[in-house]
Amino acid sequence: MISHVKEEQFGEIPELDFYYCPYGDCQSKIVKRFNFMLHLATGHGELLPRLDRRLKELKLLIDSRQNQISQSITDELNRLVEVRSFLHTSPLFDVASIETPESLCNEIDVYQAYEKRHGLTAGQKLQVFLCYKQVIATSVFEG
Ligand SMILES: [Zn+2]
Repeated sequence: MISHVKEEQFGEIPELDFYYCPYGDCQSKIVKRFNFMLHLATGHGELLPRLDRRLKELKLLIDSRQNQISQSITDELNRLVEVRSFLHTSPLFDVASIETPESLCNEIDVYQAYEKRHGLTAGQKLQVFLCYKQVIATSVFEG
């Protein structure tokens, strides 16, 4: 479930060595991608909108493919419907009181926050080296 959430609901969050939260006054600097995703989900109300976005994607996919739906898509849809139902009915969550953002944090937001708060100047760019989806190095170069 966790790896699924990472890929399907937070796919646009890039791999970096660490993350500066792009939300307004939030000063959070976070080391791991998964922790950053948790921060967005719980700290900035992105959990439900990301879940609903993925549900919408799955429903569109199912509508467009008619009878050729893979089991994994059906399984994912059923699982997310269950999760959504749980969140909306559990006494642990007061869904109505959760503030959700106008738009979800995207890849550009993450890079811009990094470049701004990491002290890069206008001409400098961030370069990230990945190996099997793990950050092995980052460097700054003059763009
Ligand atoms: Zn934040």
